[in-house]
Order: sequence, then structure tokens, then C-alpha cells
Amino acid sequence: MSSTLPTDYASRPVAVIGAGTLGRRMALMFATRGGLVRIYDLSRSQREAAVNYVGHNVAEVAGRLPGGRPGTAVATADLAAAVQDAWLVIEAVPERLELKKKIFGDLDAIVPADAILASNSSSYASSNFLDHVRHPERVLNIHFYMPPTQNAVDVMSCGKTDRAVLDFVLATLPEFGVSPFEAHKESTGFIFNRVWAAVKRECLELVAQGVSTPQDIDAIFRVNTGLERGPFRMMDQVGLDVVLDIEEHYAAEHPEYPEGPRAVLRDYISRGRLGVKSGAGFHDDYAKG
Ligand code: NAD
Repeated sequence: MSSTLPTDYASRPVAVIGAGTLGRRMALMFATRGGLVRIYDLSRSQREAAVNYVGHNVAEVAGRLPGGRPGTAVATADLAAAVQDAWLVIEAVPERLELKKKIFGDLDAIVPADAILASNSSSYASSNFLDHVRHPERVLNIHFYMPPTQNAVDVMSCGKTDRAVLDFVLATLPEFGVSPFEAHKESTGFIFNRVWAAVKRECLELVAQGVSTPQDIDAIFRVNTGLERGPFRMMDQVGLDVVLDIEEHYAAEHPEYPEGPRAVLRDYISRGRLGVKSGAGFHDDYAKG
């Protein structure tokens, strides 16, 4: 089936479902063209934090983009109000399959007929979310990394996505300061994340085997690559609970993967060390909140 494209997108809002680490960052990027972004979340504190995050950063990030202009983010606990008139609805709720299936079914029933319906999931192909969806031709993965600093985006069909929707998304996203790359076959982890997953797994395995420490691995990584941050600091930024969820998913598909990396993550999580968001993870020098 083919879709009608939302070619009048410049005058319509984007809806972001989930106000957490990624939801608020995607909202920020979509607010850089002077438009409205609506953020939906069940948690009041997350809604407020997301709106504050966009408000604090949007002028600076929009200022870096050609044609950029600070827009507005608002938040709501009413799903129908969030998606009203939206040209793009992108979900960033926790990485739980049943939750994602339900959200996609709910959204499919209420979003505008020409709205594009995307998932920011790091490890699930959007083909997994179609059980309750009547219009899969407008469903796809649009996967962000860590905007506004890591601005690559993976784009991947759900298997039934209208080619015109994929082309429209690939052509439109750069206006919002991100660089889309298409995964041409269904791939758990898309493109860069598969490379990154292998790096994380091996680093964690070095710790599990007692060969090295998170601090030394980050240091050797920085010395040899010239990058500012090593893998453990990057995992702290993502959140160790999220890193574990993602690795569990890869391990379910690949039973041969080692258990050590997941044991290290569980140990830190059990001690309340979730990374930047809890004030400490592999490293200690984060301000709480
Ligand atoms: P998070 O835990 O920081 O945020 C999730 C948000 O969803 C929370 O604010 C929570 O209150 C909200 N929520 C929970 N249940 C909800 C519901 N039923 N309806 C509405 N909101 C609900 O998670 P995150 O790190 O932002 O990850 C979200 C998604 O983005 C996941 O699919 C993850 O794979 C993906 N992702 C994460 C990262 C990352 O680095 N953290 C990177 C790329 C993609």
C-alpha cells in the first residue's frame, strides 16, 4: 500500500512519545526549525525535565544549523493531544517489546492519516511492532544516537514501508541537523550500533576476566584513538540499564555471546550505579540529576 506524504510538514508539529534520555534529545533536534514539538510521557517529572532540556539548549543548537531557528517544546500526558496534526510521531519509550507493540497499535489508530510513525528503538526492528497496526506502509525505524553531539540516524523499513516514505524521511531529516543512513536489510542494531555493540561487549569482557578496569580501558582508548571519551564513559552516558537491555536482546539472538559482559553490568546496576542519570556508573564524577 502507498502512503500520502506529509509535504506540509514545515507548519505541523512533531510528536515524541517518551521524555527520557533520547526522547528529550530528539525533541530538541526537531525544535531547531522554529516549529512545535509535543512530548508525551506518563511521568510528570520526566515531562518537565524534557521541556526544560529543550528550552535550555534549543537556541544554541538551532544557531549552529543553516536556517535554524529555536522552536518550542510542550509536554502532555494526553496521547491524542500529543499527536494531533503531527507529521511525524516517533516513540522513545523503554525497550520492552510488549510496550512498543501496544504503543504502535494505539498510535496507528489516532495519528493523522499521512503521519509517519517511527520507532527510536535501538535493538528492535519495527517489523516487530505491527501486530495491532493497520497501516504498516508508514511505519519505520528512525534511530537516533546521542544528539545533539552524535547526529547520525539509522533509517530502516519495517518490511512494508512505502519506499516514498523512506525517501521522504531520508531527504527531510538533514533539515533538523541529523545525518540519516539507510540500513538496506533488516538488521538488529542497524549499522553503527552493531559495531558499537561489539566494542562494548569486548571491553566489558576484559573487565569480567579481570584483565583491565573501566578506567584503564577508557584511558587506553583515548590515547590510541584521540577520542575525548572511552567506551565506559559512553556507556555511563547511555545508562547501564539501557545498555544491559540492549545486550540481553543481542544475546537472545546470539546464544554464543559471553555472559561476562552482562554480569558486569548487572553488578553495577544492583549497586544503583546506572551511569550519569544516577550520579555514578563506571565513573564517579557525575553530578546527581
Ligand atoms: P529512558 O528510560 O531514559 O526514557 C523512557 C521514558 O519513557 C521515560 O521518561 C518514561 O517515563 C517513559 N515511559 C515509560 N512508559 C511509558 C509509556 N507507557 N508511555 C509513555 N512514556 C512512557 O529511555 P531512553 O534511553 O530514552 O530509551 C528510549 C528508547 O530509545 C529505547 O527504545 C532505546 O532503545 C532507544 N534509544 C536509547 C538510546 C540511549 O542512548 N539511551 C540511544 C538510542 C536509542
